[in-house]
Amino acid sequence: MPLRFFNTLSQRVEEFTPADGRTVRMYTCGPTVYSYAHIGNFRAFTFYDLLRRWLRARGFQLDHVMNITDVDDKIIRNAVAEGKSLAEYTATYTNAFLDDCAKLRLERPERLVRATEHIPQMAEAIRELSRKGFTYESEGSVYYRIARFPEYGKLSHNDFRGIQAGARVDVDEYDKADARDFVLWKAPKPGEPFWESEVGSGRPGWHIECSVMAIHYLGATLDIHAGGIDLVFPHHENEIAQAEALTGRPFARFWLHAEFLLVEGQKMAKSLGNFFTLRDILDRGYAPEAVRYLLASVPYRRALNFTFEGLKAAATAMERVRNFQLRLDTEKFAAGEGGEAAARARRAQAEFGAALDDDLNTAEALAAVFEYIREANAQMDAGQFPAAAAEPARELLRQFDAVFDVVRPSAAADAISDAEVEALIAERTQARKAKNFARADEIRERLASLGVVLEDTREGVRWKRK
Ligand code: AMP
Ligand code: ZN
Repeated sequence: MPLRFFNTLSQRVEEFTPADGRTVRMYTCGPTVYSYAHIGNFRAFTFYDLLRRWLRARGFQLDHVMNITDVDDKIIRNAVAEGKSLAEYTATYTNAFLDDCAKLRLERPERLVRATEHIPQMAEAIRELSRKGFTYESEGSVYYRIARFPEYGKLSHNDFRGIQAGARVDVDEYDKADARDFVLWKAPKPGEPFWESEVGSGRPGWHIECSVMAIHYLGATLDIHAGGIDLVFPHHENEIAQAEALTGRPFARFWLHAEFLLVEGQKMAKSLGNFFTLRDILDRGYAPEAVRYLLASVPYRRALNFTFEGLKAAATAMERVRNFQLRLDTEKFAAGEGGEAAARARRAQAEFGAALDDDLNTAEALAAVFEYIREANAQMDAGQFPAAAAEPARELLRQFDAVFDVVRPSAAADAISDAEVEALIAERTQARKAKNFARADEIRERLASLGVVLEDTREGVRWKRK
């Protein structure tokens, strides 16, 4: 079966290839750098990363643009409150974001573009929209007249025909029930930063930056536009209205949206105060790869409920793969006929690929890998794993890690979290019970190499970091 994605626009799973057959032109909505991103935000960014990696694994090239929103209501409010310039204020959080992305091993898009570096292009686009009759002005601000775009609502599948013409909003985000003319260019308010442009002085609204930068770098029609599910309306609906009014062409062939990260059933959000930043979690001793694994493990169209138990389970699962890699790298395997075992490893590879081709079903892909690891470990324990199966098994892990990228531990001294240490110790205890002393010793050595020393006492195993 070919690679396919659920397209929010058609509400169907569709086969995917880039329009030119080679390079995927993709735009994803990036962070608003007004504060530290929380791991809910990073669920969306991790999804973009998995998408990139799987598209590449399937032989496509990438031209991926992601924006950094470095001017909006919240940023201006915070910068003014701290007495900083916009540039100074946003530099802090842009750098923090990029640091966090690196810790989570999120690949850099081919182009990372800042809104404030594209103000003239936005002003030009707004002027063009005005020339075409899609805008009106009120008190120095320019609004998009959605009644002029009959297809408004086609992405969010809302029927907006009954809307009140002329009702408008100045804020960037608003409710679903509330389709209104939205602001393209905002008149300056006293004490706020503004730009001089061909549509007057002021600053752009949030929605225009994405349409303009996407078209500027990637052309009128994108292969993929992605974002978090909360962006479907109004942001992406507005992006379509702007872009298609400008070019007269479909804005994106595929629209992909990642579901929320939840905490006790509610969206993780700054405004609800139920959020953790990556820093918060690393401070508790978890490895960034465990966070990456957790965020990647649930398919992107399913809500993911965040708990520390879930994070511990992710660390344990990740450790299982690392241990298997270690066994493959260090153990001696049986010589002789191994055709069947090699075929079993290749079957796991095929299952892994088929699951990711199916709208990035990461849960099924992981199931295929773990089922295989369980069987192979049992064979190894029994001294029956044939040398002939080692290379296809390594190839499976290479395929796995090209997407999940968690096998290599972080270089940091505290790369192994307490939870991972505990998980390894539990596995060692099991191994000893099963009289698999080779395995038990191996785990002790692995922990020692990570600076963790074990002491067997009558009460059980005690451990400390060197
Ligand atoms: P923002 O920085 O608020 O513009 O958001 C950046 C990205 O994070 C957007 O694509 C949002 O849809 C996404 N996002 C925000 N909160 C969550 C959450 N709790 N779970 C998943 N994605 C989220
Ligand atoms: Zn956007």
